[in-house]
Amino acid sequence: MGRVGKLTTAHGDVTTPTLMPVIAPSDILLSPRQMRREFGAELMMTNAYLTLRSFGEEAEKRKIHGILDYNGPIFTDSGGYQILRYGGVEVSPEEIVRYQDAIAPDIATILDIPTGVQTTRERAAETVQVTLERARQAVKLRSNPKVMWCGPVQGGLFSDLVAESAREVGKLDYQLHAIGSPVELLEGYRFAELVDLVMAAKQNLPPQRPAHLFGAGHPMMFALAVAMGCDLFDSAAYVLYARDGRYLTSEGTLKLEELSYLPCECPVCAGGSPEKLYDAPEDEQVKLLARHNLHVTFGELRRIRQAIVEGRLWQHVQLRCRAHPRLLDGFRRLMSYRDFIERFDPVTKTSAFFYSGEESAGRPEVLRHMRRLEERYEPPPLPILAIMPAFEGERPELPEPEKTHLVKLVPPFGVVPEELEEVYPLGQLQVPRELDPEQIRAVAESLSSFLKQHGERYEQVLLFNDKPRWGNSLVNACASVVKKLKII
Ligand SMILES: [Zn+2]
Repeated sequence: MGRVGKLTTAHGDVTTPTLMPVIAPSDILLSPRQMRREFGAELMMTNAYLTLRSFGEEAEKRKIHGILDYNGPIFTDSGGYQILRYGGVEVSPEEIVRYQDAIAPDIATILDIPTGVQTTRERAAETVQVTLERARQAVKLRSNPKVMWCGPVQGGLFSDLVAESAREVGKLDYQLHAIGSPVELLEGYRFAELVDLVMAAKQNLPPQRPAHLFGAGHPMMFALAVAMGCDLFDSAAYVLYARDGRYLTSEGTLKLEELSYLPCECPVCAGGSPEKLYDAPEDEQVKLLARHNLHVTFGELRRIRQAIVEGRLWQHVQLRCRAHPRLLDGFRRLMSYRDFIERFDPVTKTSAFFYSGEESAGRPEVLRHMRRLEERYEPPPLPILAIMPAFEGERPELPEPEKTHLVKLVPPFGVVPEELEEVYPLGQLQVPRELDPEQIRAVAESLSSFLKQHGERYEQVLLFNDKPRWGNSLVNACASVVKKLKII
């Protein structure tokens, strides 16, 4: 579901997935121009509600591009987050729609009601209904055709409400969608619940519209979120963390005082030292940490884009999710949606399939192979079936090759008829020589179901057993054809 996209706005194109650095309109730490020049940020995010409070009508004259002194794409949020944090804003939903049309960002957001996560079902349902009502009303109020609009999805931890919210807002005239309320889940490292929230939304939103994961800005979870089809992230994390002396990495967060070295290649770290950072005057320290944090953030996004182009995003997610057990929980939860994900997974890719741990056995390619073998495959009419585990070295001789149908056992794919072994990814497969229990289980299961389905048609079944590597698992898997079985 992860994709590299091009989002065209009135002020230029934006490559996704990307992060929108949040710029406070009246307190600019790093200017949007520097954001673009130094880090490659293309789309800036600012808050229409705070702009209204700080600049009022002046912003209607100067437009938001004048206020931020930036001529590239700008996204405005409406103040929904301020509701979540501080419990209310002094502006009506109609007013904030009209104001955004007047200050003319490239993308604007309606004033939604964030569900949050500590809420009753009744209240969650109400936030969904009110947000939808406002979304319908905003479509009628909008007057500036150059502004694209973002329709938020709410519902919090109630997956059915999230699904309904996504389905209904997806029917309206919006160009993008924001998935609301993940902030508390992110802060609490509740990644399994985050996966349920995002998947409930993504399974019901129009897939062609970009999806923005609201308030997500830590690079450690970008890979997981992109794999679910999130295209945009926004965050003030780079500066909030910097003010708190926290140093972002793609694997997690470090405190400045814990650093003996700077484990990063960015210009701030390559030429610096923890002492230099630590001893810098406070303003300077915040700026240096914020720059490092942004370098890490955009570096990870470039790595993810490259992984997508090469067709190895899953592998990258696996790598990142090994960094924290709670991320691994999130990844494992994601695997429970693999039936849905498989539909979006390209049938061929330009990179080899690397087996890099037991989660590789749950990849969509494996699921697809097993499913197609069961649903579409018809063996050739030959009387002998030879079953051969994938092996290194010389292939054993078959007693009657012209009468024999050969299938190989290829972990983690299972049964691979010889005539299919060059089909992607079977021909481009790298697995470790040592088998793990998950591979053995997957192959034995596949062999057992193949024999149950087709075992009747053969007169004889030859199993080339490799006992040291496979133990009794293959012999046991042949239970349904035991009368015809010859073990070699
Ligand atoms: Zn750095």
